[in-house]
Amino acid sequence: MNGFQHLYIPGPTNVPEPVRQAMNLPMEDMRAPDFGDFVSGLLTDLKKIYRLDRGRVFVFPSSGTGAWEAAISNTLNPGDKVLMSVFGQFSLLWVDMARRLGLDVDLCEVDWGKGVPVEDYAARLRADTGHRIKAVFATHNETATGVTSDIAALRRALDDADHPALLFVDGVSSIGSIEFEMEKWGVDLAVAGSQKGLMLPAGLGLLGVSDKALAAHEAATLPRSYFSFSDMIALNDTGYFPYTPATQLLRGLRCAIDLLLEAGMKSVWARHHRLAEGVRAAVAAWDGCDLVAQAPKWYSDTVSTIYTPQGVDARDVISTAYYKYQTSLGSGLNKLAGRAFRIGHIGSLNPVMLCSAISAAEMALRDAGAAIVPGSGVAAAQERFRATTPDRLPQATPKAA
Ligand SMILES: *Cc1c(COP(=O)(O)O)cnc(C)c1O
Repeated sequence: MNGFQHLYIPGPTNVPEPVRQAMNLPMEDMRAPDFGDFVSGLLTDLKKIYRLDRGRVFVFPSSGTGAWEAAISNTLNPGDKVLMSVFGQFSLLWVDMARRLGLDVDLCEVDWGKGVPVEDYAARLRADTGHRIKAVFATHNETATGVTSDIAALRRALDDADHPALLFVDGVSSIGSIEFEMEKWGVDLAVAGSQKGLMLPAGLGLLGVSDKALAAHEAATLPRSYFSFSDMIALNDTGYFPYTPATQLLRGLRCAIDLLLEAGMKSVWARHHRLAEGVRAAVAAWDGCDLVAQAPKWYSDTVSTIYTPQGVDARDVISTAYYKYQTSLGSGLNKLAGRAFRIGHIGSLNPVMLCSAISAAEMALRDAGAAIVPGSGVAAAQERFRATTPDRLPQATPKAA
């Protein structure tokens, strides 16, 4: 193969070279006397990524799905009523897990292309004067549809109803890339995974936990063992883990956190917004293509899910991009299979990389029969990128040179 395979899926994302090098080290002693200091510093700094002052962040050797399970099994009881919504493959899977773990799910079904139905949640919370709902779940960024939900508004809905339910948020494809304020928004359990905004290989499930959730853990009775908060807390407080940690991933995580904090989270969020705007400009320029996200308020800054034109099979677009142009685009999941493909714009990326993603998608779309104008998407993205700079959000278009 010449050059490299281009990766524009919403996770695993591209690993920055310094992070990759930080993981290239000999095996080390995870009980070494100085390993605890390394871990303590890491766990403290992770809270800055989560924007969490109190509480703590757990790092489990799992993918994000493991942290979903840890959140539920450590804080809830069998048969607890929880409020959830489905509007894409990831929100769907979390509901499936909640049911399998024995929760009583009060489900809101939403069109794929919209997000958490805050008004509907608010009404159900107001009606629940007996406080039977023990937790409210929200998928912050639905990676299947490219839809971001308003977690701050959900917090207000809970507060307005004076409702004590715990707030669970899936931030796997938002934490570390889209605005996320765990403390300010009063999020109680926030799930992340290493291979998305944190720019690492898969293998770490991260979970931010509020003091309120830690208190709920004391009384919660769902069975858990490997993912037990208590076991983890006992060892984490000394800087160690109850089982062998993935030491190389932790070294990589140290480097990734440093890169993010050095840039500043607000600048990281602004960069993702800028990249997303370029991709959205391209989609708008492609005849017959459309975002699955139904309105600007739902647009995701980490992934765009794009309907192909009528009669164009998105699976052909993806396989052509892969085999003919060495470019991985994300597939349409579940009912979007064949109808949509995804461009991931999350993690270590810059405008010129996104121009190559758009270029590959454009060629593959035309190969698959789409009547889009060659270069139209790339040109639109270029002009969008020219009009913006990394830390400054959209400005007036500069004069053509
Ligand atoms: C990727 C993803 C998951 C699943 O995480 P795994 O690391 O694959 O277990 C869950 N939720 C969202 C929103 C995701 O993007």
